[in-house]
Amino acid sequence: MIKATHRLTVAIIGRPNVGKSTLFNRLVGKKIALVDDTPGVTRDWRAADGRVGGLEFTVVDTAGLEDVFDNSLEARMRQQTERAIERADVALFLVDARAGITAMDRHFAAWLRKAGKPTILVANKCEGVAGRPGLLEAFELGLGEPVPLSAEHGEGMADLVEALEPFMPKEDEEEQDAADAAEADTFFAADDEEAAEAAAAEEEAKALQLAIVGRPNVGKSTLLNALVREERVLTGPEAGMTRDAIAVEWEWKGRPIRLVDTAGLRKRAKVDGKLEKLANQDTLRVIRMAHVVVLVLDADGILDKQDLTIARLVVEEGRALVIALNKWDAVADKNAALRRLSDRLQTSLPQVKGIPTVTISALKGQRLEELLDTVVTAYGLWNRRIPTSQLNRWLMGMTESHPPPLVDGRRLKIRYMTQVKSRPPTFALFVSKPVDLPENYARYLVNGLRDSFDLPGVPIRMLLRKGS
Ligand code: GDP
Ligand code: GDP
Repeated sequence: MIKATHRLTVAIIGRPNVGKSTLFNRLVGKKIALVDDTPGVTRDWRAADGRVGGLEFTVVDTAGLEDVFDNSLEARMRQQTERAIERADVALFLVDARAGITAMDRHFAAWLRKAGKPTILVANKCEGVAGRPGLLEAFELGLGEPVPLSAEHGEGMADLVEALEPFMPKEDEEEQDAADAAEADTFFAADDEEAAEAAAAEEEAKALQLAIVGRPNVGKSTLLNALVREERVLTGPEAGMTRDAIAVEWEWKGRPIRLVDTAGLRKRAKVDGKLEKLANQDTLRVIRMAHVVVLVLDADGILDKQDLTIARLVVEEGRALVIALNKWDAVADKNAALRRLSDRLQTSLPQVKGIPTVTISALKGQRLEELLDTVVTAYGLWNRRIPTSQLNRWLMGMTESHPPPLVDGRRLKIRYMTQVKSRPPTFALFVSKPVDLPENYARYLVNGLRDSFDLPGVPIRMLLRKGS
């Protein structure tokens, strides 16, 4: 499911003489690459159709630019590796289990982790018993469990198939998969911080779709009018004519903000009783149109059942939620009001920690700037992309300090993690047996993500994928 519309490209990398060309030949099925005991005998990288088990893919061999670059061996290796993995979806990182792990292997492992390319560690030359010490050593590289292989003898190919399988493009079945696929093209761009920045800049130019929701009489219309009065209305009606506006758009600190469905809001607020059914189609429609939803609460009656129903809808729909605690001017005991809100949020919406809350007075125009700043910040978090390299370094720490549980005496393996989309941030976690991953372990990871990458208040989605 990684590149649903593309053929999977696999790069074979590793220091000279570990058996890259031998594996390449085995996967491609022809003697294309030169095999020689002299390091660096293959002269250029090459790509060919590869096949193993039932899997078909493109395989790139990274053989030697050794002659071309007059640098240190490490620098040359690195250049060659960079070129190869640029083209690849996944790297097969070969080490020589007979020779053991060398300083250069460690160097490249560290570099690969930093580059954040999904990597399958392969311990080659594992036939017989001679490979065993090297196989154990390979664990130290911090790239997960090595796949034991003998490229020359064709042993361990089933394990290789199993390791590659999760990376194969899949036909989408679930709805979520379809969404992932739509995002697949930007998937690897996410690894590339420059591309992520470009995407962010592009996003910057588009209007932030903002919805204001809440029970009747909490002050939605007052807030709406106050916002529009204070800001320059760029499109839509003149200030004060919001009643029939379809959309109001203005700029806040250079960012276009568009209020969604204000007409509907105004009308519904007028029709007594209609908003009583808060989970109705209208509310849902407004929430679905929005990027950020401001839930207006009356500071006097904080988070009753209706409020919570809307808040949950916002989270379920994956929108960024901001709470505006309105009529703050009329609250006598402000501390008690805040305490009550935080208690209720903790007990009733524990899945989203750190929902930003701003106390405002729509009537007196107090802290509306702060509200808009908070909305823009929430929007930024909702659009966040975390590079795969950072994610996997973090994941390693998380699984080390709190390893996944044993299932039938075998440790559940968490292979790697990647962000498949933003808006809201959505992650795929590759696990040996997804069904066996306990709910509380997934929650541990989601909460950890929120803390470590500073994602307060945004819904975070975690998709479990099978990865051996
Ligand atoms: P490259 O430099 O990484 O492309 O390595 P080659 O594919 O040229 O292989 C280097 C040497 O290792 C050759 O002599 C191969 O025959 C040998 N070799 C490759 N795979 C295996 C293997 O699975 N077992 C053993 N024992 N030798 C292997
Ligand atoms: P809506 O039904 O959510 O659109 O609520 P309205 O905007 O019509 O406001 C309902 C009532 O609350 C009106 O009487 C407003 O004047 C009052 N109200 C709105 N905002 C505030 C506020 O910040 N402070 C106080 N004291 N009253 C407010």
